Amino acid sequence: MKIYDISMSIHPDMPIYKNKAEKIPVFEVTRDFSSGSVFESKITIDMHTGTHLDSPLHVIENGKTIGSIDLFKVITKCKVIDMTHIETKITRTDLEQVNIIPGDFVLFKTKNSYTNKYEDSFIYLDESGAQYLRDKKIKGVGIDSLGIERNQPGHPTHKLLLGSDILILEGLRLAEVNEGEYFLIALPLKVDRAEACPVRAVLLDGLP
Ligand SMILES: [Zn+2]
Repeated sequence: MKIYDISMSIHPDMPIYKNKAEKIPVFEVTRDFSSGSVFESKITIDMHTGTHLDSPLHVIENGKTIGSIDLFKVITKCKVIDMTHIETKITRTDLEQVNIIPGDFVLFKTKNSYTNKYEDSFIYLDESGAQYLRDKKIKGVGIDSLGIERNQPGHPTHKLLLGSDILILEGLRLAEVNEGEYFLIALPLKVDRAEACPVRAVLLDGLP
């Protein structure tokens, strides 16, 4: 069995959505070996930092929180789909060329996986693509940008997906992974009131 780590490292110089200063994680060492016998630290972190999962509460009032998601949706078979030919956005037309069936968890590998800094022109999933995936009744969708959409007033991609209980994984790193079928594990912390949470996402190629 091979394990692909498809997560971003979390550190102060990591890529941050729209390069917003308030979203940079803050690290603090609260105890160390200069004063005692243990090391302890604290991180102040935006819940949409790095590789993370969005739950319905992100855009749906009273929607499901990250602590109450169905674990079968994030410990699951998945399909990595090569979208590296896309220049701007993934649309319905692009998805019609691909084999997607109800219950799938699909991960889109795009040009985003080949840059290690945030770029305003990142490849995203547009509204028509989100409609298509909602109609296909998939369980989740992942992408290798810090946001699954950009510059769409009202955030229709998030609303169409999360409004149908389709989870969204953002900030994946897929440069090392080829198109194909894998087993995905992407567990968020059990935070009762949060709308998102960083995850350690891995793909297993061949189960033990
Ligand atoms: Zn998010």
